[in-house]
Amino acid sequence: MCGIVGYIGFRDAYPILVKGLHRLEYRGYDSAGIALMNEEKNLSVYKTKGRVNDLEEYVLDKDISGTIGIAHTRWATHGEPSNTNAHPHYSQTETLALIHNGIIENYAVLKAELQKKGYTFHSTTDTEVLVQFIEYIKQLHKCDLFSAVQIALGQVVGAYAIAVMEKGNPDQIIAARKSSPLVIGIGDGEYFIGSDASPIIEYTNKVIYLDDEEIAVIKRHEEPQIVTIGNVRKTPQIKELEMSLSELERGGYPHFMLKEIFEQPQSLTNCMSGRINVEGTNVTLSGIIDHKDKFLNARRIVIIACGTSWHAGIIGEYLFEELCRIPVVVEYASEFRYRNPVVYPDDVVIAISQSGETADSLAAIELARKSGAFVYGVCNVVGSSIPRNTDSGSYTHCGHEIGVASTKAFTAQVAVLTMMALTIAKEKKTIDDKKYTDTIKELQNIPGKISQILDLNEEIRQLSYIFTYAQNFIYLGRGYNYPIALEGALKLKEISYIHAEGYPAAEMKHGPIALIDNEMPIVIIATNDTIYEKVVSNIQEIKARNGRVIAIINEGDEVIKSMADHCIEIPATKECLDPLLSVIPLQLLAYHIAVNKNRDVDMPRNLAKSVTVE
Ligand code: GLU
Repeated sequence: MCGIVGYIGFRDAYPILVKGLHRLEYRGYDSAGIALMNEEKNLSVYKTKGRVNDLEEYVLDKDISGTIGIAHTRWATHGEPSNTNAHPHYSQTETLALIHNGIIENYAVLKAELQKKGYTFHSTTDTEVLVQFIEYIKQLHKCDLFSAVQIALGQVVGAYAIAVMEKGNPDQIIAARKSSPLVIGIGDGEYFIGSDASPIIEYTNKVIYLDDEEIAVIKRHEEPQIVTIGNVRKTPQIKELEMSLSELERGGYPHFMLKEIFEQPQSLTNCMSGRINVEGTNVTLSGIIDHKDKFLNARRIVIIACGTSWHAGIIGEYLFEELCRIPVVVEYASEFRYRNPVVYPDDVVIAISQSGETADSLAAIELARKSGAFVYGVCNVVGSSIPRNTDSGSYTHCGHEIGVASTKAFTAQVAVLTMMALTIAKEKKTIDDKKYTDTIKELQNIPGKISQILDLNEEIRQLSYIFTYAQNFIYLGRGYNYPIALEGALKLKEISYIHAEGYPAAEMKHGPIALIDNEMPIVIIATNDTIYEKVVSNIQEIKARNGRVIAIINEGDEVIKSMADHCIEIPATKECLDPLLSVIPLQLLAYHIAVNKNRDVDMPRNLAKSVTVE
């Protein structure tokens, strides 16, 4: 969601900023803009609705010189996507230019006050209110830009990552954050700013992650000064990035999503490496072992997540209840945070988020911590806000995920939850030795079995042609495959814009069965697990109503083959690991249908990769 890039140094800022904006495109956006200061210390803002390419075209005849600049991709929250609403926004006198990610919640009150004082507004954004307010404070207190930002942010309610530049002052950028991510890259006498590390990694692997309510004054050749809104000076903590540049490139694949689907054998191997011992007999997650008592004495596990991570959470529920015998509830973070939930001090709360920046999950974590619960994060992005705001956690280590529709991050989340459940179950002695070692052994076979499923890519592509023009889809599954039905449906709607519903297969009779006719494709996951016979009956019920069945079955299942219209055969595995395999054909099916429909697979409309606003 929204991208921020900044540069101050000795090179031309424009190419660095534009490349950075391209690197952040995956986050989802609707307009783009840039502010630059030339040698004469003039501040220019160029912005346009549309893509970064449109911005590049727009500036062709403009002055883009300068070694300092800020740039932005906007994901509109306040006001339609338009040239005027795009960032950067100027202050009244056009001496300040500001970019912003997030929402200024008290913008209406501030705006009304400023209007009374004669300020005029060009856009309908909350962001323009902030930059005007900073200028107002600066004039009122006759202070420098840093102090004006500090005082203004002290009066702002909401979430923000901002970067500000001032005409006539080519030597500094001021950046600040609260609830929205911001990273400063440290070069040699030059600094880079990014919403995440992807615009930075090309130039340096040394970064500072700003914390909430911190303001950074960034000048060439000087260590950034970091001071909080409450005026506490902080020592910058320099961290090393783990990301590599190749992760940001498509590597010959037509889309990042396809690349990421195909990366899953490797990303899962990475996720498990160092956690399963060399003999393949033991799994240990240090984040759990270091806080073993919390898990052994947990009254309950509460899993909070959004979207795809929430689906991983349901698989977590089944795993923890089956293997560890701990009661689990799975909550949407956005509901949990506002519904005054009961959280006990002896609850363990697990927050799952690919980006580690999901605004609703962060707020839910804060609520859980206030209730005294122990909070564990399962995130992909190293150094992101959730790992920094939780008591312990495990990274998914699946590499940078760029496709907006999550694939490899989902399977890595499921793998981490599986390893967590096994680690706790062993400590709690709720699993017998054989089941424990068999499950670990089979977990290590999963990457190879995924490779086998990926060999079906062409077969699934052919199948996708038959269903490209379907208006609706139903996805069904039971047990561990129920969350996969939800995930399969979500993948399809996210990237193809076809309406799709996921349901527990047995629930079909309580409503969705009314939708079934000879037009309706029904994807049903029917692998050979303990409730296989029940799923076979569900298929019969669909066929009796002429539904078109696409069944995900285990290799050699002649029974379902004789009933279903189409079958995709995947290798068998242990029931609790089935989601790691059954999701793969559904990812591929959604991908190919979306490609057939000419959709923007990696950046589907209206969606953002990391949802940093609530
Ligand atoms: N709330 C701001 C706007 O609508 C910023 C949105 C964003 O994060 O891109 O302009």
